[in-house]
Amino acid sequence: MNFIHRSVLLALSLCLVLGVAACSSQGQQEAKKEAATSEAPAAPEKALGKIDQIKQRGKLVCGVKDAVVPFGYVDEATNQIVGFDVDMCDYVAKKLGVELELKPVTSATRIPMLAQGSTDIAAATMTHKLSRDDVIDFSITYFMDGQKILVGKDSGVKSVADLAGKKVGTAKGSTSEKNIKEAQPDCTVLSFEGYPQAFLALKQGKVAAVTTDSTILLGLKNSDDHPENWAIMGDYISAEPYGLGLPENDSDFRDFVNTALMEMWNSGEYQKIYNKWFGKDSKYYLPLTWEMEIWPK
Ligand code: GLU
Repeated sequence: MNFIHRSVLLALSLCLVLGVAACSSQGQQEAKKEAATSEAPAAPEKALGKIDQIKQRGKLVCGVKDAVVPFGYVDEATNQIVGFDVDMCDYVAKKLGVELELKPVTSATRIPMLAQGSTDIAAATMTHKLSRDDVIDFSITYFMDGQKILVGKDSGVKSVADLAGKKVGTAKGSTSEKNIKEAQPDCTVLSFEGYPQAFLALKQGKVAAVTTDSTILLGLKNSDDHPENWAIMGDYISAEPYGLGLPENDSDFRDFVNTALMEMWNSGEYQKIYNKWFGKDSKYYLPLTWEMEIWPK
């Protein structure tokens, strides 16, 4: 006879000795004890969503470029980071009713920084690619461009075909690196920390061209002391729809940001900001030839 059987027998014989009342009250106590111990554990507190985290903190931390004219760069007069991407973040921060903190990112750091939670959102000239969608999410497209090449005006390089056997500079972690390798497998790609470094290499004759999105090239060319020395050449070699980088799997925040973008477009605020940076009177003219995806009500 094992221990359990022995104790059941003992309890039964005790019942017989002490009478039914004692037994039933003992049974009730056992039942209560059991109910207390088998009660479902308190539900774990639901993790705060990004919107609540941002509101509690009182600021939106936005990853932006700090050396990519005119998307995110340091304004020499004020020493502040300004640009089209900064204005996108500013709108979202205002809609959330919080301050905006800008954190400089590069093409290589913008995704890991967002995935690790050191930024809440990335507005950093980032193309929405399916291959980038594994660890972060993206907003709807908020800017549209394509990749070209920037060369010395008298270099004789007219298209990507002329880059065979030549060195081409671009930024580490960009789509530009991959696109140029596909478009011109016979060139050597040198990846720099950022586009200003690639442009410096072009000026020093270390590369024959810089390649990335056409507006970034326009930013390099037209913020140079001698824009007339440089030419943006050839056809687009890719489509680069920009999305705001967002934390993975937070659909409330994603909806909030998408709603903000659509609201900007519908109210004309987007076009105002766009024209400020890329309009006819700007130094970085890029006609607005596409329309934002607007969800019907
Ligand atoms: N839009 C491209 C990308 O996301 C090139 C510009 C950049 O490096 O930020 O990679």
